[in-house]
Amino acid sequence: MISKATIDTVFETARVEEVIGDFVNLKRAGSNWKGLSPFSEERSPSFMVSPAKGIWKDFSSGKGGNSVAFLMEHSHFTYPEAIRYLAKKYNIEIEETEQTDEEKAITDVRESMYLVSEYAKTYFNNTLLNSEEGKAIGYSYFKERGFTNDTIKKFSLGYSPESWDAFTKEALGKGYKLEFLESTGLTIPRDDRPFDRFKGRVMFPIESMSGRVLGFGGRILTNDKKAAKYLNSPESEIYHKSKVLYGIFQAKQSIAKLNNCYLVEGYTDVIQFNQSGIENVVASSGTALTPDQIRLINRLTKNITVLFDGDAAGLRASVRGIDLILEEGMNVKVCTFPDGEDPDSFAKKTSYDDLVLYLETNAKDFIQFKASLLMNEAKNDPIKKADLIRDMVVSISKIPDRIQREIYIQECSRIMDISEQVLHSTLAQLVQKDVVEVGKKQKQEQKAFEIVKNENPFEAEKVDTLGNVEREIIKILLLYGNISEVFEEVLIGTNSEGEVDDLTEQIETKVCQKIYLSLQQDEVEFASILFRNIYNDLINVYLQNESFNLEQYMMHLNPEFAQAIADIIMDDEEHVLHNWQGQNIFPKTKLETLNQFVTDNLFTLRWFLISQFIENSKNSVSREPGADNIGFLTEANDYNGLLKKFSYKTGRVVVRYH
Ligand code: ATP
Ligand code: MN
Repeated sequence: MISKATIDTVFETARVEEVIGDFVNLKRAGSNWKGLSPFSEERSPSFMVSPAKGIWKDFSSGKGGNSVAFLMEHSHFTYPEAIRYLAKKYNIEIEETEQTDEEKAITDVRESMYLVSEYAKTYFNNTLLNSEEGKAIGYSYFKERGFTNDTIKKFSLGYSPESWDAFTKEALGKGYKLEFLESTGLTIPRDDRPFDRFKGRVMFPIESMSGRVLGFGGRILTNDKKAAKYLNSPESEIYHKSKVLYGIFQAKQSIAKLNNCYLVEGYTDVIQFNQSGIENVVASSGTALTPDQIRLINRLTKNITVLFDGDAAGLRASVRGIDLILEEGMNVKVCTFPDGEDPDSFAKKTSYDDLVLYLETNAKDFIQFKASLLMNEAKNDPIKKADLIRDMVVSISKIPDRIQREIYIQECSRIMDISEQVLHSTLAQLVQKDVVEVGKKQKQEQKAFEIVKNENPFEAEKVDTLGNVEREIIKILLLYGNISEVFEEVLIGTNSEGEVDDLTEQIETKVCQKIYLSLQQDEVEFASILFRNIYNDLINVYLQNESFNLEQYMMHLNPEFAQAIADIIMDDEEHVLHNWQGQNIFPKTKLETLNQFVTDNLFTLRWFLISQFIENSKNSVSREPGADNIGFLTEANDYNGLLKKFSYKTGRVVVRYH
């Protein structure tokens, strides 16, 4: 593990504008820098970097964060990879912390397996390009397939000699341990003489998103009917078939940039497409996509286009797996090729322009495609048609977005010639079932009379109101937390006539303390888990330090917090982008009315929670005759009184927040 000290040094040294400047052409704009978003194709700049705050924000995609978050988003590094990259850029020596023996053992095993795999990749590639046998057999095979030298290099293609243990021997000679040759599956154990798994095959290294070799695919070159055409590395500590996508390392930039990913069947499809100039393509290697693989793509884009061979039988089977992609909230298109063609053969004989045109014209929306495909078979068979309708509705029910579901209902009604109403009621049954399941689970988790937390998925609108207030409060803390302001406090005391009464007093307090004390007094917790965590973290920093420096604070944040905070504080600056050439005009600062602004937000939060509490109390009232509801009713009444008092004090009109 990289030590905390190294991470700190990296954050302290890295300048956000320098890090991003390596990838994006930035121009000065007042105290900020602006440029074209690297996450979308655009002509006018919507990407903004704030050196003072150490953050960036991309208004076209909504992404934002610190330097590390940028590298994670843009170059798809993991957190440690981003830290290592920055350390290298700024010549910072990386200090590794001690791991426990157990951790060390696991990392050592994995590291050794990576090393062996990396060596094997180089060995196979060398053999292909430099040995007589490799050139005569492997290299000429790839040439015959039409692969260029650049392609061979880009995918590190290789050749494993037609001999019992040529590779194993060589690797052992270089000091690699038999243990790791065997655990990666490159060598097959046998007491007297371990032997090469991939003997006599051309080799396709399978790499991770960050370019580490995880395993191999090997294609046989003889016509041996008994041997499998393709052989893959076995599952191991580093190779999990269901979690990798062939070609993802070469494709990731292009997928993110073009905001679409083509999904094909295997190695040669990926490679042929790359050679044709289409780089945003990956393969699931022979099997249906798994949720892990979908998530891998989901990190880069929401859009998948699945490319199918021409044969109809395979098509129907593959269509089933696609519901999984819908479930992840992705947009799925499908594209088929003419009979007898697969993506590989089709790309090979088609020019780049024609291929792009073909994909654009033939990619169909999945739901429409599925409906039309199955409709052709079911047209004259009512039973089949009924099945099909249910099948379609199941697919539609997987789509998380309600509006999108609605559009598909209309679409399917048209294609399948059935009323929208029938589709709706079938859908409602399915969705209802899911809702009941979720509801049951929630009930079990809910503790009685806990402070009101709004995490109920069926009350999305309320969460928004609440979310906005919580967001504002965090923003106030970030920007103005250490400023002292005069607040009006209500205290209980005795008035001039000696009676007990509410008295108001002007008290000067730091904004952060005012917020902290108010929320604590009311036992209020933020509903959004993210905001709650940020709030707790921020408050701790404020309470433990005399001063607060936003830039320094941002440096040490984890990417999730950093992204959220960049969102919150860069909000106000979006308008500056509309004034690219001209002068920067900043909005009137909130400072003039800070105390009012703080009080307002605290009030709204309190108001919202109390309204909700009343609602909950009322809902707890049992309609059973003879039920004892006094407790609930009194409670609701008390809170109603409290609300009235609030509105009186602040001159607010009583409005319910739902
Ligand atoms: P041919 O030259 O006979 O067409 P091929 O090498 O193109 O053979 P196909 O049988 O056409 O292979 O396979 C189609 C695609 O599926 C290819 O991209 C291939 O790499 C891939 N593929 C086939 N079997 C596997 C497998 N077991 N694992 C991963 N990918 C595979
Ligand atoms: Mn083929």
